[in-house]
Amino acid sequence: MDIDALGNTISALRKQGHPIVVGDDVSKRHSVDFTCENALKPAAVLRPATVEEVSAALKACNDLGQPVVVQGGMTGLAGGATPRPGELALSLERLSGIEELDEAAMTITALAGTPLQTMQEAAEQAGFLLPLDFGARGSCHIGGAIATNAGGNQVIRFGMTRNLVLGLEAVLADGAVIRSMNKMLKNNAGYDLKQLFIGSEGTLGVITRCVLRLLPRMASSCTALCAIQSFPQAVKLLRALQAKLGGSVSAFEVMWADYFQRVINHIDALRSPFSQPFPLYALVEAEGPDVEADARRFEAAMGAALESGIIADAAIAQSVKDRKALWAIRDGVADITAGLAPFASLDLSMDIAAMPSFLDQFDRELKAALPRAINLVFGHIGDNNLHLLVSTRRHQDLSAIFDIGYRLTGAHRGSVSAEHGIGALKRGYLHYSRSPEELALMRRMKNALDPRGILNPGRVIPA
Ligand SMILES: Cc1cc2nc3c(=O)[nH]c(=O)nc-3n(C[C@H](O)[C@H](O)[C@H](O)COP(=O)(O)OP(=O)(O)OC[C@H]3O[C@@H](n4cnc5c(N)ncnc54)[C@H](O)[C@@H]3O)c2cc1C
Repeated sequence: MDIDALGNTISALRKQGHPIVVGDDVSKRHSVDFTCENALKPAAVLRPATVEEVSAALKACNDLGQPVVVQGGMTGLAGGATPRPGELALSLERLSGIEELDEAAMTITALAGTPLQTMQEAAEQAGFLLPLDFGARGSCHIGGAIATNAGGNQVIRFGMTRNLVLGLEAVLADGAVIRSMNKMLKNNAGYDLKQLFIGSEGTLGVITRCVLRLLPRMASSCTALCAIQSFPQAVKLLRALQAKLGGSVSAFEVMWADYFQRVINHIDALRSPFSQPFPLYALVEAEGPDVEADARRFEAAMGAALESGIIADAAIAQSVKDRKALWAIRDGVADITAGLAPFASLDLSMDIAAMPSFLDQFDRELKAALPRAINLVFGHIGDNNLHLLVSTRRHQDLSAIFDIGYRLTGAHRGSVSAEHGIGALKRGYLHYSRSPEELALMRRMKNALDPRGILNPGRVIPA
C-alpha cells in the first residue's frame, strides 16, 4: 500500500471514530518485538478497548483492504508482531482484565491483553496453579501466548498453552466474532474451532478472550542439579525419574558443558556446585502435594540414579535460596546474550534419539563454514526441544548459521520452531518441517478465513 493510500485509510478510520493513535503519538514500543530485527514505527495504531471495537476496526480495515499487524506484549521471538511497510498496528493492550475465576469449574476467563503474570497471580491467590510460565510472563499478553502456543518450563508435565485453553473468542478479518467460550473438558460438538487460532500467530483471527484450565496448587517443589557423563545417560535419568516420581517431574532442563561453563564464568554471582566439569548437566524439578513425603521420594530417586551410575553427582536444593541459585544457572542465558550479539537463536525440536546425531553434524558443518563460531546448547529435552545460541559476533554470518541449522533439522525430521513460532523471520525455512501438501492446506485455510489477506500478511506461510 503506498503512502497516500495509507494516509487516506487512516483519515477514513479517524472519521469513522475508531480508537486510533497516529504519527508522533505512536509509541516506539509498537516498532519491534523482542528480536529487535527490522524495527519500523507504524503510521498508526488501533487501540480497541472492547471486542466490539476490535470487530469494527477489522471490518473497516477489511473493507478498505488495509493490512494489519496484530500486537500483544511485543515479547515474541519470531518477528510476527513487528510492523511491515504499509501496515497499521492493532494493539490489544487496552483489552485487558480478568473477567472470572470459577473455583468450581477450575477455570479463569480473561481478555486477550491481560498479562500472563496477572493471571498467574490471580490463580495463586485463589489457591490454584496456572501452569504456564516463561521469562516474558510480566510483559506478554495471554492472547500473544495463545497466538504463539507458547511453551516454557513446565511443558513436560502440563503441555503447551494449547493444552490449557478450554474456550476462546476471536474476531475474523471481516469483523465476525467467533465465540467458543467453552468451559467443559469434553466437547465434541463439531469442529474444535478454537484450535484454528491457537498457534496460528494472528494470521487467521484476532484472539479477544479466553478460558484457561487451572490446576490445584502444589505444596512441594524439589529441585536438583545433576552432573551427567553422556546424552544417553541424560535420557535414562529422565525416564527413571518419570517412572519413580509418578508423573510429578515438572522441569528437565539439560545444559551442555559449553553453555554451563560460559554462564558460570560470565556471571559473578554463579558457582558450579561440582568440583570438576562434566559433559552435561540436568536441572530437575518435581512438584507434588506433600512436602515431606515428596522430598523423601525425590532424594531416594536421586540416590538410586547415583548408585546405578546414571548420574555422576547431584546437588539437591535444601532451601528456596538454593533452588533460586540452581535456576539462575539455567536462566543465565538472558545475561550472556549481550556479550554474544549478534547471535543466531535456534529453537528446534526433534525426536530425542535424533539429538546427538543432529548436534554432532551441526558442530561439524558449523566449524567447517565458520571456524570461530561459538555454539551454546541447552534444552527442555523431555519436550524434544533444543535451544542453540550460535555466534561469530558478525551479522553477516547469521544466515549461514540458520541455513545449516534448519537444513539439518529438516534432515533429522525435526521442527524449525519448537515453541517461538515462525513469524516473519522463519517462514523461508518452514518447508524443512512441513510438506508441500501441508503448506497448500495452510494457504487454503488462510484464504478461507482472510480472503483479502489483511491479517498479519507475510508471516508464517511461505510466499
Ligand atoms: C525473556 C523471554 C522468554 C521467553 N520464553 C519463552 C519460552 O520459554 N517459551 C515460549 O514458547 N516462548 C517464549 N518467549 C516468546 C513468547 O512467544 C512470547 O513471550 C509470548 O508468547 C508472546 O506474547 P506477546 O503478547 O508478547 O505477543 P507479541 O510478541 O505481541 O506477538 C507474538 C505473535 O502473536 C500475534 N498476536 C499477539 N497477540 C495476539 C492476539 N490477541 N490475537 C492474535 N494474534 C496475536 C502477533 O501478531 C505475533 O505474530 C519468550 C520471550 C521472552 C522475551
